Amino acid sequence: MARAWHLKSRPSGMPTHDDFELKELSLPQVGDGQLRIRNRWLSVDPYMRGRMNDVKSYVPPFQLGEPMEGGAVGEVVESKAEGFAPGDLVLHMGGWRDEAVVSARAANKLPDLGAQPQQFLGILGTTGATAYFGLLDVAEAKPGDVVFVSAAAGAVGSAVVQIAKAKEMTVVGSAGGPDKCEFVRSLGADQVVDYRDGPILKRLAAAAPDGIDVYFDNVGGDHLDAALALARNNARFAICGMIDSYNKGEPTSLRFIMRMIAARIRMRGFIVFDFQPRMGEFYRDMGQWLASGAVKSRETVAEGLDTMPDAFLGLFKGENIGKMLVRL
Ligand code: NDP
Repeated sequence: MARAWHLKSRPSGMPTHDDFELKELSLPQVGDGQLRIRNRWLSVDPYMRGRMNDVKSYVPPFQLGEPMEGGAVGEVVESKAEGFAPGDLVLHMGGWRDEAVVSARAANKLPDLGAQPQQFLGILGTTGATAYFGLLDVAEAKPGDVVFVSAAAGAVGSAVVQIAKAKEMTVVGSAGGPDKCEFVRSLGADQVVDYRDGPILKRLAAAAPDGIDVYFDNVGGDHLDAALALARNNARFAICGMIDSYNKGEPTSLRFIMRMIAARIRMRGFIVFDFQPRMGEFYRDMGQWLASGAVKSRETVAEGLDTMPDAFLGLFKGENIGKMLVRL
């Protein structure tokens, strides 16, 4: 028997532990083209909050009473698929559980980049790719730009800071609390603002007195509004996430949205999966940056399957520095 977290109830507002239930799950026999995988690392991500709602989005909602899923790295323990053997480490979507039977078509062997397995859920996974394509492609950030990134101590944000510095940009990061701000500074950010220590607009205006060319948005809300207020002409905004709104269920008021017109601001939302065909570029550059030490990965690790909901809820309370992971 495997053990898997199931969605027990759909939350309104901030989810609680009671919305999740850990239950035994009987796995099917491994069929042709399938793998049985023992998970070693599980990912918790803010987008999973959206999947707890019964709404149509770019990924289907979790179903009530059914096992949840998400990114995972595990070891193949049984294979009936060509090209996979017991002992192989694979990346797949059968997370929130200790064991999974999946189609080999939905599993990828970890690329041989000399990296630690869990890094493929973070800096070398969709997290790093989100930062890389969001900054360099969606926002078209270039050397010399002043880049503002919110949730800069988090998984995506900390990667954005480091990529921007590797590409010779000036970086202003925002994060909650002095320890996180110190961490963002240690990544090379030129200015760091603690948004819990006063209004973000005032703090950002002091940190970037001549304005910003690029905003990498992980937060939305007052961060997005402050970026609109301080954008230079022809600024580009990569709208990656709006974690400030995920538990509010109401739209944010944007006092400075009209600045888009006069300042000719270009704002573009994106989903990292759109860049799947270009992952080779990402592995090449990120592999080099990691090898040279230009980019470092940081993880906050919770231990054991039982901690999964708490690790997930911790994302909305700012309990992580870098990528939040669960180790089994
Ligand atoms: P993080 O590691 O950044 O974790 C979330 C962090 O957000 C927390 O640590 C906390 O940091 C901050 N936060 C939480 N609530 C608030 C709030 N109300 N106001 C300001 N900050 C808050 O998560 P990820 O790096 O995985 O994700 C970052 C963003 O990127 C999310 O919005 C996510 O949805 C989005 N995303 C989008 C993708 C895409 O394809 N478009 C792909 C992957 C992620 P602090 O303590 O500093 O407040």
